[in-house]
Amino acid sequence: MALTLLCGALSSCEDADGRLRRFEFHALGTLIEVSLWDVDEDTALVAERALIADFTRAQRDWQPWGDGALGELNRAIRARREYRADAELKALIAAAQPAYRSSGGLFDPAIGGLVELWGFHREAPASAPPPAQAINAWLARRPVYADLKFDNGLVSSGNPAVWLDFGAFAKGYAIDRAIERLRRLGIRNAIVNAGGDLRAIGARGNRPWRIGIRQPRGAGVMASIEIAGDESLVTSGDYERFFVHDGVRYHHILDPRTGYPAPAYMSVTVAHQSAAVADAAATALFVAGPSAWRPVAAAMGITQVMLVGADGRIEMTDAMAARIQRLSAPQDIAASEAR
Ligand code: AMP
Ligand code: MG
Repeated sequence: MALTLLCGALSSCEDADGRLRRFEFHALGTLIEVSLWDVDEDTALVAERALIADFTRAQRDWQPWGDGALGELNRAIRARREYRADAELKALIAAAQPAYRSSGGLFDPAIGGLVELWGFHREAPASAPPPAQAINAWLARRPVYADLKFDNGLVSSGNPAVWLDFGAFAKGYAIDRAIERLRRLGIRNAIVNAGGDLRAIGARGNRPWRIGIRQPRGAGVMASIEIAGDESLVTSGDYERFFVHDGVRYHHILDPRTGYPAPAYMSVTVAHQSAAVADAAATALFVAGPSAWRPVAAAMGITQVMLVGADGRIEMTDAMAARIQRLSAPQDIAASEAR
């Protein structure tokens, strides 16, 4: 979990006059928490049912290694067959394309085969890195998102090593869809928070929504930020999936150029209107590293970024620095690492 809503337990979050309603459920491998301001009970119930149905479908259809649509597509690609994707899957594939291109392929959903080599597709972490030969073999086959072909509703790939994994994008995309769904129900003030990645619309009465950004090591909050209007905040962190082997930490954000976990950061937080774009960008900037994140952010249309380096040092854009609050000193982060 990358970010936390600063309101503690469910009950303490209830406003005295009951104007804040919350519900939560598990989907896409995480806790989805929805907060609604000034919404009547019936509308809140309709919203809850609709979002649970949407996220449940997404969970089934977008599993790269599952029985749903994306798993079927991946197996068809591996077998060099064409696949007739339904409208929802085609929309997901199309939505990720601009970020793939603008990131120069640092965000690349065709990376599933590499994710599998590292064992990050499983619940239980691997105990050791894959052999270098296996990584080199994947690099030699160079599966990239641009290998996908579309012909009259049929999807195929010129490269059978493509295995699509939208793990860096689908949560943000689902959050955007959920906000659209809430808007269609007439809801104007809400937060959809999927394991710390979130989008907020409107406000919490006469004050903005306040969001906490967690420490990449330890459990505390390192900063907070206020959101009013319509904005998403997404964090990519090396702490979400990782294993330690011979004292070295190997995490799930992989550099498609090297085949290894991107070494520069503990976490990268991006604010942007679209949660899908912020999700893809947080991953891409994490991979880009210190020398390249600024031009990649510019190419992706991202102006608000905070990066916590592997050494605990914090870097951010001026636009982010202008609004972030209560930032811990870098040594606090290093100290919390020891816990
Ligand atoms: P995120 O937490 O959004 O950074 O997403 C990380 C997840 O996306 C990983 O668990 C992988 O499934 C997948 N992934 C890892 N590296 C990349 C990459 N460079 N481009 C696209 N997806 C990636
Ligand atoms: Mg991401």
